[in-house]
Amino acid sequence: MIEIKNYIDGLFVGYSGSNSVAVYEPSTGKQYATLPDSNSADVENAYQAAKKAFPKWKNISAEERFKVLEKIAHLIEMNHERLAQAESKDTGKPIWLTRKVDIYRAAANFRFFATAAMQFSSESHHTTGEAINYTLRQPIGVVGCISPWNLPLYLFTWKIAPALAAGNTVVAKPSEITPMTAYLLAEICAEAGLPAGVLNIVHGTGASAGKAIIEHPEIKAVSFTGGTSTGAEIARIAAPMFKKLSLELGGKNPNLVFADCNLDDAVETSVRASFTNQGQICLCGSRIFVEKSIYDDFVGRFVSKVKALKVGNPFDENNFMGAVVSKPHLEKIASYVELAKQEGGEIACGGNRLELEGELSGGWYHEPTVILNLKHSCRTASEEIFGPVVTIIPFENEDEALEFANHGRYGLAAMVWTENLKRAHRVAEKLESGIVWVNCWMLRDLRTPFGGVKDSGVGREGGNEVMRFFTETKNVCIKY
Ligand code: NDP
Repeated sequence: MIEIKNYIDGLFVGYSGSNSVAVYEPSTGKQYATLPDSNSADVENAYQAAKKAFPKWKNISAEERFKVLEKIAHLIEMNHERLAQAESKDTGKPIWLTRKVDIYRAAANFRFFATAAMQFSSESHHTTGEAINYTLRQPIGVVGCISPWNLPLYLFTWKIAPALAAGNTVVAKPSEITPMTAYLLAEICAEAGLPAGVLNIVHGTGASAGKAIIEHPEIKAVSFTGGTSTGAEIARIAAPMFKKLSLELGGKNPNLVFADCNLDDAVETSVRASFTNQGQICLCGSRIFVEKSIYDDFVGRFVSKVKALKVGNPFDENNFMGAVVSKPHLEKIASYVELAKQEGGEIACGGNRLELEGELSGGWYHEPTVILNLKHSCRTASEEIFGPVVTIIPFENEDEALEFANHGRYGLAAMVWTENLKRAHRVAEKLESGIVWVNCWMLRDLRTPFGGVKDSGVGREGGNEVMRFFTETKNVCIKY
């Protein structure tokens, strides 16, 4: 049984309370580690360490900061296989995915923001004949970073790397469900020479450790990724303290397939966009809308490809899908399939939990599931399931496609499939969404703004946007 520890002031330390939390391996359903359910006293210790480390970290040169962050990127790469194995064990996601995406992108996050530390600049404004203004962008101080379970190391580093690059010190909490790679990252940071106290990792539940970060009056900014209701609770607590907040929340992303698309590409990528990581990516396109004239063709091809997807042991390279992250999450997914049936949905394929044999018999598996014959406004097609379940619904024309796509509370990402350039621009402009992919999915450039509108969040991550979030501006006006 692995005992995960907090990392505070450069040391792996014990914790104040006596409650520990079990960590499970989703592919077998067995516990394999424990972590501390840290409380406000542990967060206070982490805060004090971060506060002490801040003046020095803030004042070292950008080049020194670059060197340490680049070294962390390098060491993530050196530990690539070890981290990929740990991530698959902790999350149930297939090893091909952790090798190809999660760990690779975690290193890329550190490398990108290492260079951002060197390149970040600010503005100057000339008031003709009277004065010159320049804007200082200064680190905020101690900031909080809270991340979810679906892309554990990838999203953890997506927050920590820019926070550190901008000169802040950090108190961070990974999801209690998937803490392992954050624990391993602490070792890597120490080996890379990140000074003690610059990054502090406090493990535990959202209700205890997470809440203590949000409630801490001196942690002046919080970057959070997770569910919409958790985001609302965080905003409620943080607003009276005037904390800076970045909230990346839930989604239910539309995927619009027009008759003038390249159908081979649309089908191929839509399958990936539906079921990669068992559908547990905030960017997955789980509401598929298809123009009526190609609906039958699309459904036929899509369903036959989905039926061919292999689900099973995450450590078998041949399996496209592994286990979902937890038993409660599996139950939530299954309950939505039941709801779909009650709402009149037709299960075109999947629809069931998968019972595997031997070692994997206790694991949490679900078939990739395609549901037809539902209205765009029903609960199944509007609420976030965050699992391997998609609906396919026909539309008459562009206006109806947009009406369906913009229905509902979320607005994170959208996909558009068309070979008509004018339509692509027109539809992209009208979609209520923070991100639009035309003829592609998850094609990322770390410089672009990342985030959602409506109930999918507030603020943007990525590139200069996140460097601005993690700094405070001060305008200096000098009279000629
Ligand atoms: P949760 O909101 O349950 O948890 C996210 C993080 O917040 C976890 O570390 C959790 O800790 C912590 N937390 C929970 N309650 C509190 C609280 N009251 N105060 C402070 N911290 C708290 O989300 P999930 O982990 O279930 O992640 C899935 C959700 O994340 C989905 O809705 C998905 O759409 C969204 N997401 C959004 C993305 C985006 O970029 N917009 C990207 C990826 C996911 P613990 O787990 O220990 O309870």
